[in-house]
Amino acid sequence: MKKPIILGAVALAASLYGAAAVAAPCMTVTLTGTQGGPPIFKGQAGAGTLVQYGNDENKCGAVKMQFDTGRGTTLRLSQLGVPVGKLNAIFYTHMHSDHTEGLADMLQLRWHFGSKGPKVDIVCSEDAKSPLGHTLSCTKFAAHIGDALIESGEMAQRLAENKVRLPGGPADLTNVKTFKPGGEPVEVWASGDVKVTAIGSRHIPGHASYRVDTPAGSVVIGGDAGNDKPKPPRSSSTSEQVEKLAQGADVIVHSTIHPVMGPDKDSGFPPPIYFRQSTASDLGAMAKRTGAKHLMLTHLIPPMGAPKQGPYPIPGGALTENDYKQAAKDGGFDGDTLVGTDLATLRLPAN
Ligand SMILES: [Zn+2]
Repeated sequence: MKKPIILGAVALAASLYGAAAVAAPCMTVTLTGTQGGPPIFKGQAGAGTLVQYGNDENKCGAVKMQFDTGRGTTLRLSQLGVPVGKLNAIFYTHMHSDHTEGLADMLQLRWHFGSKGPKVDIVCSEDAKSPLGHTLSCTKFAAHIGDALIESGEMAQRLAENKVRLPGGPADLTNVKTFKPGGEPVEVWASGDVKVTAIGSRHIPGHASYRVDTPAGSVVIGGDAGNDKPKPPRSSSTSEQVEKLAQGADVIVHSTIHPVMGPDKDSGFPPPIYFRQSTASDLGAMAKRTGAKHLMLTHLIPPMGAPKQGPYPIPGGALTENDYKQAAKDGGFDGDTLVGTDLATLRLPAN
């Protein structure tokens, strides 16, 4: 009679071991759009990063967090097989259209087929006043996201044919959670083992950068952050707050401008706009200092292969992937530099 018991114990141990092995935690970081700024180039989607966390059994996808929602985000998510209705939270670095304009499309789709919910958390800065007199308001952006469709009469028409839909339109599906971006990281969202912190960083009023910590690894989403000093002389074009947030993080995802667009290179690119972004070489230096393993360059100014950034020609001609990698290397980074293309994905731990 002993033999079956031993076999049973072995089988139980094997199944427990097996369960532990397949349930190993993992996360993925996917660039849903890599276009830098409002220009368009060869169908690139606007800025956005999807971070997913889970385990091997759910393809690292139990928690889905979208950071910024540029033009075409819905299309990129569909290519990943991620329905917009499955996003748990959407985070905004700042209220610029190249980072936000995909939301109307995303929420309309969610409203159309998923009015029963759940609502999606929209996590962003509280209203931020500029010394110039205007106010950047993520709260109003979300509250009015369906207004054009309400004003056109479409919402009334669609509600008449399906009364299950929410009467207020897509905005009814949002749950806006604002925070005050400051000089120290604060927790702004959490779900199970996932924690998201944010810090205030300079670009426009209300700009924030984020960090996601999970048992599988950590990633910082810098957004369009630049140094607090709006122009040289300064030690770096990168943000000291982002650097603080990124200490020890595995991955840094950051908007990037190539030094070739600098005022010393005759592109004609406006210096104030150049100076409010982080250069690829300074990001390489920052990634080296924080100990990052991976630097994901996104929101590339200029796009790889583009002869121009908007109306501004690229001195010396179109840039290549290697031009960006070399710039990060010139800054001293000897880790893995991924030069962003739409849908580029990094998995932690690596397969
Ligand atoms: Zn931008």
